[in-house]
Amino acid sequence: MDYQDVIDQQRLFFNTNATKDISFRSRELKKLKNVLQKNEKLLYASIYTDFKKSEFETYVTELSIIYHEIDLALVKIKKWARKRKASTGLANLPGRSYIIPEPYGSILVIGAWNYPYQLSLCPAIAAIAAGCTVILKPSEVPSHTSKAMASLINQNFDPAFFKVIEGGVQETSDLLKVKFDKIFFTGSVSVGKIIYQAAAKHLTPVTLELGGKSPAIVTKGIHINMAAKRLVWAKFLNAGQTCIAPDYVLVESSIYDQFLAAMKNHINKADYKVTHHNYTQIINDKNFDRLNSLIDPDKIYVGGLGDPEERVIPPTILKDISFSDKVMQEEIFGPILPVLSFDSIDEAITKVKTLSKPLSCYVFTKNKAVKNKILNEISFGGGAVNDAVMHFAEQSLPFGGVGDSGIGNYHGKYGFDTFSHFKGILQKPFWIELNLKYAPYSTKKLKWLKRIIG
Ligand code: NAD
Repeated sequence: MDYQDVIDQQRLFFNTNATKDISFRSRELKKLKNVLQKNEKLLYASIYTDFKKSEFETYVTELSIIYHEIDLALVKIKKWARKRKASTGLANLPGRSYIIPEPYGSILVIGAWNYPYQLSLCPAIAAIAAGCTVILKPSEVPSHTSKAMASLINQNFDPAFFKVIEGGVQETSDLLKVKFDKIFFTGSVSVGKIIYQAAAKHLTPVTLELGGKSPAIVTKGIHINMAAKRLVWAKFLNAGQTCIAPDYVLVESSIYDQFLAAMKNHINKADYKVTHHNYTQIINDKNFDRLNSLIDPDKIYVGGLGDPEERVIPPTILKDISFSDKVMQEEIFGPILPVLSFDSIDEAITKVKTLSKPLSCYVFTKNKAVKNKILNEISFGGGAVNDAVMHFAEQSLPFGGVGDSGIGNYHGKYGFDTFSHFKGILQKPFWIELNLKYAPYSTKKLKWLKRIIG
């Protein structure tokens, strides 16, 4: 399919300068919130059909995050879009310097399936706040949520401004043939590379929100019960299908057994059951089979192989795991938690650094020196100390990866900046001009210039 017409329409609209008007952006964001709020029932029903995600989890991990992003943008958008002052060097005085945030233009957002609403709509919200037009291609994997977003957006927004195009590999490949002003992609490392290559042909800037194996490092001397509770919640939320879920846990050997027991206790207490609306299905058979194959029956501490009919894998902890086990060779992206032990912090850090730079890292410790050492020596996208996953909800923090886990970031003002080009401007008056830089040159002029510009 040729999408050139769709993007041409958006470019025409962008060039009318309608999106430069802050009140236009605010109006469209308010409309988006309204449309979503009025249709929450459809949004809940669609995601439940796709992978039995409950209303509770959908609100907490999808809709509330979308609403917060819109609300923050509505309050801050004027400030974010304002000309930003910059200092001016001696050589340009009495000039003034400033930076104008300008919208990139026509944006392509490509979403992932695991949090299908917020991973598609939050980048779109940031792009709209920044004054861009948006084409959104949600993941085709949860087909009902994709359909719901397409119908709500396409019925309520001018396609020249904001349009959803549904589809999979073919449609995305066709979209990538067209030149966009920015591409924002959330998904796997392998597809991220395809997107990056396609964007390079047009010199299109990209933000890549990718994945990886995010570690949690747990040291002795902590509040074991609380740490286990937080980790269990973070891991089994959305049945582990979370890009920033703790992928594996490294526990100091002196508390290894105690920590395993504490996690088991919290899994039992949470009573994770799809039928009780506090657990989700695995998204599809392909992922179900992949995940089941990562479970070594000899190493199961809690849980075990899943039920293919129901597409459910129980919360599973694997013990006595080493870095050579199959489960440690790829991002898990499901409800399986390998727990490894370590004897020294240096050993834990060295092991984590044998893998690619993770999207997140979680440190559970009361020891300040240990905390600082880990934060200083391991490179990762972002994370938390004595908690996991919750940093995602902090709008004041940039969210994104580093190295193999991604390029760029978003959320709150960082999202606005991601879709803005910063135009640096020097402005001069006419009433004075130093003649030193002009020919004919002389040693005297050079001496003065050296004094002024250094
Ligand atoms: P994916 O890479 O398979 O798909 C992502 C998007 O790319 C989808 O919209 C899909 O239609 C499209 N796509 C798939 N194959 C393509 C191809 N060959 N050419 C062009 N487009 C293609 O990822 P996924 O399975 O949806 O999500 C899982 C991955 O995403 C995990 O690695 C996870 O860690 C990562 N993820 C990262 C974040 C983050 O914020 N950093 C969030 C969620 C998921």
